[in-house]
Amino acid sequence: MKYLVITGGVVSGLGKGVTASSLGVMMRCAGFRVTSIKIDPYLNVDAGTMSPFEHGEVFTLDDGGEVDLDLGNYERFNDITLSRDNNITTGKIYQQCLERERRGDYLGKTVQVVPHVTDAIMDWIQRVAHVPADGLSGPPDICIIELGGTVGDIESMPYVEALRQFQFRVGRDNIAFFHVSLVPVLGAVGEEKTKPTQHSVQQLRSVGLSPDFLVCRSTKPLSSSTKEKLANFTHVPAENCLGVHDVSNIYRVPLLLQHQGATQNLLARLALVARPNHKLLS
Ligand code: ADP
Repeated sequence: MKYLVITGGVVSGLGKGVTASSLGVMMRCAGFRVTSIKIDPYLNVDAGTMSPFEHGEVFTLDDGGEVDLDLGNYERFNDITLSRDNNITTGKIYQQCLERERRGDYLGKTVQVVPHVTDAIMDWIQRVAHVPADGLSGPPDICIIELGGTVGDIESMPYVEALRQFQFRVGRDNIAFFHVSLVPVLGAVGEEKTKPTQHSVQQLRSVGLSPDFLVCRSTKPLSSSTKEKLANFTHVPAENCLGVHDVSNIYRVPLLLQHQGATQNLLARLALVARPNHKLLS
């Protein structure tokens, strides 16, 4: 089992969900079966009680689970059917930990965020990752995990720590980290600014996660000199600094990534070889 983790920086709403869905398309085209997990660090148990004015429409899954609308994108892009367990919320994790505590499962221990909550997060991810979502039997090959919000939020810290530990649990060859960030263009000078992304990567590194790929949202295609600059300051190779500019149709994003060599670089990073029956995106 291989894991792709998508985190976000600078501001929310940059396209983590679209990136997660697009990576699924790319991996399916390389012949792999995928599933997805969305982590929402809020304390609500699910999105069912949240105002759509505040958080967007609720997406209802086949099993009745009321979840974030990113799960709808995952299902549409990747032709999969997810269950309520594919959406992790802090409410669900704490509910599980508190039920265990009341049953006495922790055998008198002090129940703490590290290790009890972080272990519950890692166990949940591993359990759900092995459940097929494409109607076939046997576990999928790749699980794509999107961490909602932006790195640095208080709410997401237990997840960042769990993911930091998770990379050692599964081995570095089996997990790749994508960080979605913003490269603004300042009107007066018309220059692509890398500083917000530099700071965001520094913040990510300070909590123990090193991105393998940067996905940079911008208004126009990223120049190669900007990619070089990002590589210099973030230690992410220039070929893994991917530009995703504003497009009229989000279904073009997998092609945008593919045309920058992301599929081949990701397969190499995960020590995978495209399956013989693969249909490469074109
Ligand atoms: P996040 O998961 O980071 O909050 P989403 O993936 O939900 O972000 O995307 C936020 C909004 O931006 C959605 O309406 C999505 O359709 C739009 N969007 C994402 N990427 C692009 C893009 N490259 N071009 C145009 N719109 C985009």
